Order: sequence, then C-alpha cells, then structure tokens
Amino acid sequence: ILPGPLANSSRPATLGVLGGGQLGRMFVHAAQAMGYQAAVLDPDPVSPAGKVADVHIATAYDDEQGLAQLLQRCEAVTTEFENVPAEVLATLGAHRPVAPGAAAVAVAQDRRAEKAHFAASARLSGVGPAPHAVIESEADLARVPQALLPGILKSARLGYDGKGQRRVASRDELAAAWAQLGGVPCVLERQLGLRDELSVIVARGADGAMVTLPVQRNVHRHGILAVTEVFEGVLPVRLAQQARDATMAVAAELDYVGVLCVEFFVIDDGSADGALVVNEMAPRPHNSGHYSIDACDVSQFELQVRTLAGLPLTSPRAHSAAVMLNLLGDLWWRSGNPTTPDWAGVLALPGVHLHLYGKLDARPGRKMGHLTVTAADGHEARRVAWEAAARLG
Ligand code: ADP
Ligand code: MG
Repeated sequence: ILPGPLANSSRPATLGVLGGGQLGRMFVHAAQAMGYQAAVLDPDPVSPAGKVADVHIATAYDDEQGLAQLLQRCEAVTTEFENVPAEVLATLGAHRPVAPGAAAVAVAQDRRAEKAHFAASARLSGVGPAPHAVIESEADLARVPQALLPGILKSARLGYDGKGQRRVASRDELAAAWAQLGGVPCVLERQLGLRDELSVIVARGADGAMVTLPVQRNVHRHGILAVTEVFEGVLPVRLAQQARDATMAVAAELDYVGVLCVEFFVIDDGSADGALVVNEMAPRPHNSGHYSIDACDVSQFELQVRTLAGLPLTSPRAHSAAVMLNLLGDLWWRSGNPTTPDWAGVLALPGVHLHLYGKLDARPGRKMGHLTVTAADGHEARRVAWEAAARLG
C-alpha cells in the first residue's frame, strides 16, 4: 500500500487504527507525515487519536456498522489497543491486511497463553518466563508449589500498569487475593529480586524481515513506567544482544507482523551481568519506545506504518542518547489544588522534546504525555532529565 495520492482515486491510501489513545495518535502523526490518510475507530468522541485523524468512527470496537465503515474507508488496519476483541481483528482480516493478526493478539491478551509462548520461544533463545503457575480453580490454589511464594498474582486478562495484580506472601494471602480478584483465571509468579528492567521493540514484516530498536532500560513506579533510558553503556552489551535475540525469537515463533514490544527482567544469578527473564509483550508500539520519535532516525510508529503498508524495513539508528520521562496527571495537582506545570522552565533546557496527548482531564496516574531529553551522551541526557524533573516538581 503506497503512500500519497493513488492513481485513479480521489483520495490517498488510508490506514486505519483500532483505538484512539496516545499510541493511536502518534501512529496517525507518522502515517500522515508519510502521506497516508488515517482513520481511527474509538468509542470516545474526543479521543487523543480521533482528534487528529482524517476520519474518526466513534463506535464500539465490535459495532458492525463502525467496522463496515472502517473497511470501506481503509486499505489496511492496525491496532493500538491490545484488548480489542481478537475476533474483530479476524473479521477485518478476512477483507483487508490487518497487522498484527488476530492469533498473535489473542496470545498477548492472555498471560497464560503468553507464558506458554515464552516457554516455547525459550527453546530458541534460552530466555524463559519467571517460575509461575496457572490458577483457575481451588484445586490449582492447593497445588501451588511453595517455591512460588512470595509471589505476584496477576489476572490472566485485562491487566495493565500494575492493575489486576496482588502481592502475596503466604497461602492464606494467595487465597484471599484470588477471591479479591473475583476468582478469575490468574497466573501466580514468583516475586523476583529485580536488578533492572528492559524492553525491546521489534518490527517484523510479512516476509519475515525484522529490525529492532536499541534496547531500552525502564524504571517503573507503582507498576507504571516512569523513566526509559537508551544510550551506550546503560546496559551490558551481552545482555542487550541477548534481549534483542530473544525478542526476535518471540516474534518469529508467533509469525508476527507489525510492531511488538517484549519486556524483560534482569535478575541476579551470580554472574556479573545478571540473567534475563521475559515478562510480557505488547502487540503494538509501547510507552518505552516513545524516545524513538526524537532520538532515532526511524520511530516505532513509522515502523508500524511500514509493516502495515508492506513497505521495506530499514534498521533504525539512534542518533542521540535519550532519557524519556512519563508525564502523569499528578503534575497538574499541587497539595490537592490544580496547577499548570512549568513548561517554560522545562523547555528552556537543551534537547527537551515535549509531547502532550491532548487529554483534558489530568487525573492522578493518567498518562498525559511524555518528554524525551536527547543529548550527545548518556551523562548529559540524565543530567538534563533530572533538572527537568526538578523543575516539574
Ligand atoms: P503490567 O501488565 O501491569 O505492566 P507487569 O507484569 O509488567 O504488568 O508488572 C508490572 C511491574 O511489576 C513490572 O514492570 C515489575 O516492576 C513488577 N513485577 C511484575 N512481575 C514481577 C515479578 N515476578 N517479580 C518482581 N517484580 C515484578
Ligand atoms: Mg508491564
């Protein structure tokens, strides 16, 4: 699907996206920059992506008329919202190129299937999931090996930003936590001592060609990504290469088409660098890849456009060191009173790139935007990022 005006047509090729959040918004920006039109399907009439799209279809994800409109208008469809019903992707996929496909998204939507997939791809890469057990019944609870405690109980479906998770130290706490989560299917993981967290974004074309972004080091606060750092020396080279290889193994084993993010833990195993454990994957661009807009010559969103349109993939190159800070709604509140963050102070710093997602309601914990600091090296990027954080209070 080539960009720009189509021969014998009154409009350019249009790329569709299911979901109107910030990821959809940045996809729309990338698609439009390359000469595509963009259509967004999201029930929210004022979604971040819907506001900037050429076409906004404001219906539920499974609304037949909405989906028919999307098919009529779009040459190909992607998703930014990982909980879009997999059947919807399958339906759309019968008529148009859809990337990622329904089968891959279904695996990413369920921690049970996801962990099983990681265990399978570990045969290629040697990097497997954390020790875990599936909990679907009282009998499963009784069978849980002691070695999984203390652990983290995670609902199999619909969890994000630490939601749907409970830390449990004993069997009693485990039983109570499972009841609290409504007795839904869960995965219990051993709580690991984390030395670090990292993630890798891979783009894979329909022909199997793959490119990856540089490896990202992530810091979470309260289960939400807070900081991503990407520069030479931020992670041991061997570990970074192993994470890239493991990510490509995960994508290849799924026969994935599109942009995929795989998250890893680094744990102590007695070695100098530590060892990798694969945690989860997102079948879409990821918060930890936002730095690529400002610090790489090809962003994760351009890669999403290219994989969707079937364009060639070229290897992205980081031209700057980068530190990304997430901007949560808390910044708009000071001791319970509404306030405006000191943007002028922050933007006076060198290499600061501000991205706000167009959300009007600054609730605490809500992702409102991010800023990426680019610099010649990691020391400078970190120094400016600390100063920016200080000015934001
Ligand atoms: P979410 O879907 O909410 O992102 P994750 O499984 O990534 O769920 O968990 C969120 C965060 O919680 C992780 O980034 C990590 O900091 C912490 N965490 C999750 N699982 C474990 C574990 N098994 N051991 C230690 N920390 C964990
Ligand atoms: Mg996560």
